Amino acid sequence: MTVSVIVLLGAPGAGKGTVAGRLKDGYGVRHFSTGNLLRNEIQRESEIGLKVKNIVGSGGLVDDALVNEIVEQNLQESLAGGSVVVLDGYPRTVPQAEALDLMMAGGLRERIVALEIDVAPEELVARLSARLVCVKCGDTYGAADKVEVCRCGGQLVKRKDDDSVTVARRLEKYEAETRPVADYYGARLRKVAGEGAPEEVMKRVEALLLDLKIEKRGDCQWPA
Ligand SMILES: [Zn+2]
Repeated sequence: MTVSVIVLLGAPGAGKGTVAGRLKDGYGVRHFSTGNLLRNEIQRESEIGLKVKNIVGSGGLVDDALVNEIVEQNLQESLAGGSVVVLDGYPRTVPQAEALDLMMAGGLRERIVALEIDVAPEELVARLSARLVCVKCGDTYGAADKVEVCRCGGQLVKRKDDDSVTVARRLEKYEAETRPVADYYGARLRKVAGEGAPEEVMKRVEALLLDLKIEKRGDCQWPA
């Protein structure tokens, strides 16, 4: 059975943003992060978007049920259109992973693969201190990307919480939250070593996608 949903897992700084961006460019996948899905709904002023806007505006947190609802809606639309979907930042917890399996009921859950980009903690700290984020779409770039503007045209800035103490805390939080999600996927989890230049990481990702029978779209080249 072909894979239609890739759950991208990786600590902050593991290069998830770069991998997702290249999958979008080279494989034509739909890339959904919780952040961009929420922003989209707000921009579209959909019923859910207005709900989200109210919650965020009053300083509240968007709960799991609402996030699940937004993911499901976008997922169904994309899968109906035959797209491969990359989920980034979702599921963040085991209950969300279970909710995703329910969305893919009727044997479709076997079409979900979790792809973890594995990088040693000390390498993550070094990378994060050099990281830039787009003010417009939230995509992130590392020093190795050598870019000054986002592919969407947005300005890139350093994140306030990329200092070493906050970074260490975020990595701990990630590990505590995400390890159970990775474990949840069991036989559906594939690991890719995230060390080295983005090109090397992408070669490993490409080999994995080939194995999963996800084909590159045309003769698209990775941006240098
Ligand atoms: Zn951007």
